[in-house]
Amino acid sequence: MARDNSEKKPMFKRMALIGIGLIGSSISHAARRAGLVGETVCSALTPEERERATALGLATKAYADPADAVKGADLVILCTPVGAFKDIAEAIGPHLEKGAIVSDVGSVKGAAVRDIAPSIPEGVHFVPGHPIAGTEQSGPDAGFATLFDGRWCVLTPAPDADPEAVAKIEEFWRKLGSNVEVMTPEHHDMVLAITSHVPHLIAYNIVNTAAHLERVTDSEVIKFSAAGFRDFTRIAASDPVMWRDVFLNNKEAVLEMLGRFSEDLIQLQRAIRFGDGETLQRLFATARSIRRGIIQAGQDTAQPDFGRSAVKVREGTD
Ligand code: NAP
Repeated sequence: MARDNSEKKPMFKRMALIGIGLIGSSISHAARRAGLVGETVCSALTPEERERATALGLATKAYADPADAVKGADLVILCTPVGAFKDIAEAIGPHLEKGAIVSDVGSVKGAAVRDIAPSIPEGVHFVPGHPIAGTEQSGPDAGFATLFDGRWCVLTPAPDADPEAVAKIEEFWRKLGSNVEVMTPEHHDMVLAITSHVPHLIAYNIVNTAAHLERVTDSEVIKFSAAGFRDFTRIAASDPVMWRDVFLNNKEAVLEMLGRFSEDLIQLQRAIRFGDGETLQRLFATARSIRRGIIQAGQDTAQPDFGRSAVKVREGTD
């Protein structure tokens, strides 16, 4: 099943996915859908996950050691939590094929470059990437072929990166269904801090505050949770290891955005305290227009409940 039998020549003869959770398995599905690779192999930490990867047809072979997975691969994509990148890059570096392209899907790009680039040998091309698509699920069973459709994938190649390799990864992501944008790692990390990382921190925090309140007051916060709170619990169900690594590796941008967030929160707090309805209404109206902009840009649906009852949940946690 992991072999593509279509008539057209695949872009890559052998793709090695290092880590085969939500994102790795979705890349495998989407690449097969588009006939982009001749063969997909993977590496995963646990025997259960390796067994699952081959049983689901995500890979023809699943290795324990990432160094074995990359042998003979012309495309290698690191799909593990960001905190594992350095060790993996050091392990695979000596075994990469000349001319191969190495990429990753990490949610933080500065740290990905810092941890992977030093281990990339001469003649191998490194094109870091981040698909802005996901769900709160993890593991090889969570992936699906349409995850990237209509979503953005950000690439952050170095200024001296091989233009052909960058163009090939751009084409790869477009064929997986994404729109592609190229930017610097620093810019990516600043933008994602406010659009993804801080929102996750807020979700984790509000859910824990509610859970704590429930314990100390014996209240029924969870039982009567309205849609607003439920949406936070969905985001807060995201993988704890992945998100631990995001915050450890995008520290400065997250702290900068949290500072701004706290200032704005105090403005709202003051408006409530002083009964300043005009300010509250003005700030809420501005925020509401942002939601309309996201719908107009095709990045979400205007349906009530985010259209979740009608389609498999697609809107990302990332
Ligand atoms: P996931 O479903 O939890 O999968 C992670 C995979 O990495 C699993 O195969 C796991 O194996 C493996 N792994 C974990 N630690 C490892 C280590 N130290 N060495 C080797 N393999 C290891 O996570 P995911 O959601 O696919 O996320 C993967 C990457 O994509 C992360 O860098 C994340 O920042 C990025 N990303 C995530 C999303 C999202 O919304 N989830 C969106 C875009 C990008 P075991 O299960 O056997 O431990």
